[in-house]
Amino acid sequence: MPTDQQPVLLVTGASRGIGASVAVKAAAAGWAVVINYLSNRQAAEAVANTITEAGGVAHIVQGDTGTEEGIAAIFAMIDREFGRLDGLVNNAGVVDQTARVDEMSRERLERMFAINVIGKIRCASEAVKRMSTRHGGKGGTIVNISSMAAVLGSAGQYVDYAAAKGAVDTFTIGLAREVAAEGIRVNAVRPGIIDTDIHASGGLPDRARDLAPLVPMQRAGTADEVAEAVLYLLSPQASYVIGAIMNVSGGR
Ligand code: NAP
Repeated sequence: MPTDQQPVLLVTGASRGIGASVAVKAAAAGWAVVINYLSNRQAAEAVANTITEAGGVAHIVQGDTGTEEGIAAIFAMIDREFGRLDGLVNNAGVVDQTARVDEMSRERLERMFAINVIGKIRCASEAVKRMSTRHGGKGGTIVNISSMAAVLGSAGQYVDYAAAKGAVDTFTIGLAREVAAEGIRVNAVRPGIIDTDIHASGGLPDRARDLAPLVPMQRAGTADEVAEAVLYLLSPQASYVIGAIMNVSGGR
């Protein structure tokens, strides 16, 4: 398909984990994919190479979704290279070290909410400006990556992260209703314990394996299993699905 006719999908935090899997599967489904990353350029390039070697279209773009400069850089690249945007997977997210609430600093909370909440709302805002029929766009679809932590609360581990994901859930419902008549479908996926690098970045590299016995299915999930749910919500098969928050968690 010529590039100018191909729908364009931005996946934030797509160099590793769930975002990387979404990027590869979306490219196979026909999207031109914009792979955003924070610092691991090599990993982003590897994802892009996987896509282009399979005949797909992929561009990488560095940008911290927790900052206005980062978001501006991402959308400037999309406007320059593609001149259109049809989908957003608001995936970039972080955890912090295990801590009780009475040990959490203001700096920690500001970083947590800057990336996991404000960054997602700002990326969605920029996407709506380009996709909404109200702004002359052709419509589109947004999938926010939440977490089962929003429901479970993550006591003793990272209640700040859980609270940020609760905000993502509420934002998903509100934005979905706000832009439903403007050609944009907004939904979310709530992954459970998924085997990615995120646990090591929070100081618990074995977390997925250690928590597996608590999962009714008795195992952690994979990034590919989460990506399949995201691909469904992005697809025309989900044409009447808005404001849905799909648990992909093996029952926990
Ligand atoms: P991951 O393996 O740690 O990968 C994180 C990705 O996000 C990387 O591509 C990283 O880029 C990027 N990133 C981090 N901070 C960023 C920022 N400020 N700006 C732009 N990109 C940034 O994470 P994951 O496990 O795939 O998690 C993806 C999403 O799923 C997150 O929203 C997370 O909260 C959610 N989730 C994960 C689990 C789980 O068990 N894994 C469960 C529930 C929800 P670099 O490679 O450049 O560092």
